[in-house]
Amino acid sequence: MLVAGVALLIGLQKTGRIDVASVFNPIPPIDDAFQRGFRSDVMARINAVRGPIGAETLRGDEPLQAFVNEIVSQHSDPENLSLEMIFNTVQERFPGAQYLAANLVTASGRDDLVSRISGWTAIGNPDFNVVNTAVFKSKRGIGALSVLSRRIPRFSLKAANRDGGRFYNECPHCNEIHALELDRDSRTIILSCPYCDLPFDVLASDTGNTIYRATDFFEGFDLERGNPALTSLSDEERILSIWRKVADQCEYQLDQELGDVREVWKRPSETWTEQAGDCEDTAILLTDALITAGFAARVAIGWNGNIGQHAWVAVKTKNGEYILESTLQKELGMEDLVDVKVASAFYQPEQLFDQEHLYYTTAKPDNFTKDYFSDSLWKLIPKGMVESSVTSSSENGKAAEKRAVSGTFENRQYGVSAN
Ligand SMILES: [Zn+2]
Repeated sequence: MLVAGVALLIGLQKTGRIDVASVFNPIPPIDDAFQRGFRSDVMARINAVRGPIGAETLRGDEPLQAFVNEIVSQHSDPENLSLEMIFNTVQERFPGAQYLAANLVTASGRDDLVSRISGWTAIGNPDFNVVNTAVFKSKRGIGALSVLSRRIPRFSLKAANRDGGRFYNECPHCNEIHALELDRDSRTIILSCPYCDLPFDVLASDTGNTIYRATDFFEGFDLERGNPALTSLSDEERILSIWRKVADQCEYQLDQELGDVREVWKRPSETWTEQAGDCEDTAILLTDALITAGFAARVAIGWNGNIGQHAWVAVKTKNGEYILESTLQKELGMEDLVDVKVASAFYQPEQLFDQEHLYYTTAKPDNFTKDYFSDSLWKLIPKGMVESSVTSSSENGKAAEKRAVSGTFENRQYGVSAN
């Protein structure tokens, strides 16, 4: 439709025909009342097309409308606005406008202009929920800039729990803005950036079906309280004693035993009270108890060569670092504190977390599998995101659409199903 519009424009220029219609239907002053009336006509015409095809009814967006007005009114020749520039400018001001389409059409009169906009193919696209238009006087009559959009909210745990669905996010590693879609049905949600591939958050649903950051599952669970004999023990003996308490209390629970696939993480007190948990539940409980007892400990999530996707515990003493396999169901002895270097043949951590931080690595597996506490091998996932930056877009004639880049989204099941 739009291509036809452009062709017509060129045809008129070549033949030098006078636009007769504009002579007999003088265009009224393009004031605020005209703009409002025009917008509501365009919206009604577009929604009349969208209704029957089941697309959401479009509405206006006031801040975006003000911005579209500004773009048009500040340009000396709005007919020749660059759509690429419009996309970039809109996204600079509204980073949530991850879905955008724009067109520029001119016509001899108002009704013709409304018809051309409502004939735009993009108006049927269900991705959009907003339309904004601004009319301007053109050389041969009038023209309009129309912008279709969907503004999605900035990603936050609060927004994720309230709305679910689509968000935009600024990557804390590379600062690119990208869209992401959250699948509430998944258990462990590792969010990573589609531009730099680095993880920027590890989330999970709790038993109340609220999404939390992995670090939020700790409670300061104390398994040494009221035990004065501990001071005489070595670090390794204390670790073993805490681990035994967890292992004695908690049955390892396979996913299959729960009937449906589990979709939640438990907090330490829940695992303790229910006397059961799967790998991440017992790993969180044990890590929490170790940290509360004063040890440097982290939950590792990643890959185990025998098991598959898995979660386990790493703990550090002055003598070294150990892997604790919190799903072991046996009489635990000193030999079960496995040196990380020995364990590295089977355990490939991908992310680590403790009560405070999430950690990621870009180091070589040969190195990071043998040291879970090195600041140079394991970096903090940065927190706090700043607004700015623009994504690129494409222009096709005088109508273009920009689609969001979907965030890579990994849905991993850490429940152990074998061995
Ligand atoms: Zn990134």
